[in-house]
Amino acid sequence: MLAKRVIAEASEIANEVSVPPKKMIKEQKRIDRWFKKKNWEYFSPLAGLARLIEEVGEFARIINHVYGEKKKKDSETSQDVEDELGDILYALACFANKNGFDLDTALEKSIKKVESRDKDRYKK
Ligand SMILES: [Mg+2]
Repeated sequence: MLAKRVIAEASEIANEVSVPPKKMIKEQKRIDRWFKKKNWEYFSPLAGLARLIEEVGEFARIINHVYGEKKKKDSETSQDVEDELGDILYALACFANKNGFDLDTALEKSIKKVESRDKDRYKK
């Protein structure tokens, strides 16, 4: 009985302090291998930022089409929200690769910040 409780508590503690698996770095490395294979250069930081903003603009456009008042013109091709989210992540991964950032670490820092800062906020 005691052993089960100790194991359960140890498992709970291990879950709280465990480092989340790195998932995005695999994709960053995949993109980097592709760039090397193609002998491509990443955009400079400012051009990479412009590319990211361009993708965010495309995301905004489709959100407006899907959820907003500005509907798609008949002449426009159909777009997918998930496709645009993917384009944003791709642009972010290119920016991170060019400038030596790890998106897993970046996301983890943001999640921890929100979990700490907003832990007593928006209670229902
Ligand atoms: Mg796009």
